[in-house]
Amino acid sequence: MSGKPANGTVKRWLDQVAIPYQGRECLLFPFSRLKSGHGRVSSRLGANTAHAYVALRVHGARPDGYEVCHDCGNPPCVNPRHLYWGTRAKNMDDRWRHGEMVLPPTKRGVENGNSVLTEDQARYAKARLKAGVSAPEIAERFGVPKQTIYNIKYGTTWAWL
Ligand SMILES: [Zn+2]
Repeated sequence: MSGKPANGTVKRWLDQVAIPYQGRECLLFPFSRLKSGHGRVSSRLGANTAHAYVALRVHGARPDGYEVCHDCGNPPCVNPRHLYWGTRAKNMDDRWRHGEMVLPPTKRGVENGNSVLTEDQARYAKARLKAGVSAPEIAERFGVPKQTIYNIKYGTTWAWL
């Protein structure tokens, strides 16, 4: 076993430390990691990575086509508050982190004449809201009026996402 913690130890840490974790800071997985930096867990836990395990437990089953995303861009982080299910999120996350979240020339999602976000962006904004990011902050990052994000928050637009 060459000093590796037993699966039970990892699971116990995830269940008793990571999942109930209430802090705002990143919580780094203290056991072995994959090359990607993600925490490695036994597939017997129902997930291949520590953050996926936490996301499953905290946020429920993975919707089709979604992946676990890090709010903080920190692969070994397993803070439930920093994890969410998202689509195409890696790319968007990178842009978010680097402050490059800008609107592409968009033609989609504008049927009602009010929305200026693509579906992916709206979905991403929704995930941010769920992760506790404020609407004004998201609006600023996207470069759209606050009302656009409040509309998403209150289901006025993109309610089906
Ligand atoms: Zn984090």
